[in-house]
Amino acid sequence: MDVIEKELDKLTNGGANLSKSIKDIDKCLEILMAAKATIEKDPRATVPTLQTLESELKTGFQAANDNLKGLHAGIGKYGKALDKKFKHNNNENTFGALANRQPLINRAIQMHLLREGNFEIADMFAKEAGIAESVPSVLEVEFRELFSIQESLRRKELKPAIEWAAKRRDLLEARASNLEFDLHRLQYLVFLFNGGADDPVKALEYSKSCFLPFQKKYLPEISQLAGCLLWRERLSSSPYAALIQDESSWQSIIDSFTTEFCALLRLSAESPLYVATTAGAIALPTFNKMATIMKAKKTEWTSQNELPVEVPLPDKFKYHSIFVCPVSKEQTTDSNPPMMIPCGHVLAKDTVQKLARGTGSRYKCPYCPADSLPKEAREIYL
Ligand SMILES: [Zn+2]
Repeated sequence: MDVIEKELDKLTNGGANLSKSIKDIDKCLEILMAAKATIEKDPRATVPTLQTLESELKTGFQAANDNLKGLHAGIGKYGKALDKKFKHNNNENTFGALANRQPLINRAIQMHLLREGNFEIADMFAKEAGIAESVPSVLEVEFRELFSIQESLRRKELKPAIEWAAKRRDLLEARASNLEFDLHRLQYLVFLFNGGADDPVKALEYSKSCFLPFQKKYLPEISQLAGCLLWRERLSSSPYAALIQDESSWQSIIDSFTTEFCALLRLSAESPLYVATTAGAIALPTFNKMATIMKAKKTEWTSQNELPVEVPLPDKFKYHSIFVCPVSKEQTTDSNPPMMIPCGHVLAKDTVQKLARGTGSRYKCPYCPADSLPKEAREIYL
């Protein structure tokens, strides 16, 4: 095992120490709260309580500190091992270039802190890193709104999110987003299953006032929701069982709200810093092994923007930015984009035209028996 892997291994074990420290601190808090309660109950107990408190807290904090020491030293050693390992790679594509990009990295850190809702820390960081002006203040205002709406969704209050979506109906529609309708649907179901006798009346009134603008696009869904009224008492055995809302429906509405909110700001739903560091940490052992092999074989990888090995990443980190036509085996481009044909298969535009022999006549899908016209193919954006 090489030195980086060893340090990484130790750090992973260090995670257990961190949990221990958190437990120790929680215990200290409990002791403090108990002491507070004792003193409030009987002020005469103040002196003896404080005396025992001192020794109990000392032990607790000592234990927490001892556990953290190892972890702290581990982080330091890991950083040093990384610096040592990669110190010779000073070309543009590797760590050597990081110094030139410090302002960009600082900005990414600040953006990450804002996205996580750590507004005060973000401000402090920007001041100390000397990048106070690099993130427009309007973005902070937007993120504050994002957080306050997310908070209300966590409290299961839909109104602020519905108002936000209604104001941006055109923009959301242009993105083919279902968010606004999904919010209304959840609100309708909340009214319907509130546990009160007049729930159906409330839900019906809500549906009348809110579903009207969505009738054209979501008629089947609205009919289902109306059908729900009849099955209210035994929804789980009804054809509408899938509409039952639980914690996962709330989480998915929070996720889709966050995605849409960030998309309208032209930002990705996940913090790029989080994605980059997590993917980087997963890829590091592979890169390390690759570097060792290349050194032993005295070879170098010169292709830019391409790796000689595959890095196993979790599915949510895979972005399908390229598409290769399964027929022509060519990568699609802006002038030859991927097209979905009515059966659902995807081909490059040139391939569709070739199949139709350039005449616009009907052609058969190469992958299933369906046939269609070239004009029925729709461009897809990956
Ligand atoms: Zn097909």
